[in-house]
Amino acid sequence: MENKMKKKLIAGNWKLNPTTKTEAIKLAENIKNNTKNFNFEVALCVPSIYLDTINEIIKDSPIKLGAQNCYFEEKGAFTGEISAQMLKDLNCKYVILGHSERRSLFAETDEIINHKIKIAMKNTLIPILCVGESEEQRNKNITDSIIEAQLTADLKDISIDGNNLVIAYEPIWAIGTGKTCSSEEADRVCGLIRNKIAQLYSKDIASKITIQYGGSVKSSTIKEQMKMENIDGALVGGASLIAEEFNLLLQNANN
Ligand code: PEP
Repeated sequence: MENKMKKKLIAGNWKLNPTTKTEAIKLAENIKNNTKNFNFEVALCVPSIYLDTINEIIKDSPIKLGAQNCYFEEKGAFTGEISAQMLKDLNCKYVILGHSERRSLFAETDEIINHKIKIAMKNTLIPILCVGESEEQRNKNITDSIIEAQLTADLKDISIDGNNLVIAYEPIWAIGTGKTCSSEEADRVCGLIRNKIAQLYSKDIASKITIQYGGSVKSSTIKEQMKMENIDGALVGGASLIAEEFNLLLQNANN
């Protein structure tokens, strides 16, 4: 499929880290000082409590701000939740939705994720929608049908144009385990995702949409991954928490 129009994105997912604001500032400053105008976009998806602080650090740099979750209601009596509008107000461009940790640890269903994507898009946030199979599903050879079913359910009644959504293929067995999916297999599944988007929407939209790979991406793996036809960047967990490693990863991705 046509490769020219796709935008590439490498996003760091800090998850529930680092443990203090001081450390978060140090990490963001170090990454900012090493980030140039690469041939892909860089985003930092940080804990909500650090968004405002990190925004101040990166606002005059090429780095974009992202959140890791949002609630599907706009406002009201939902103690502890954070709305898409609040994220937009803090200058977020992206919000990760449907991460496997949210699906498994916080019981988020495809229906909930679908509602969250809708409210995020209504507030002009770009969801980074994560899809991926478990080790058990892979062993049963049902990876492809699992991914297709997630996409169909998560994107139900959602209109996309190729620029208002990013998809991250994240095989659950490769997240935080050090087990990287081979570049060939990651590319194959990202290609499957692209074909499903062509089927659900159009070939034109499928050719524009950014599809990342995520799962133990490191500075030593990124170069090969970025060369694959259907991989348009990475969602990076652990390696985005060590400034030197993430900076090297970005440099290697740019070469
Ligand atoms: C993630 O957080 O989405 C992720 C892929 O983590 P890691 O890079 O640590 O596997």
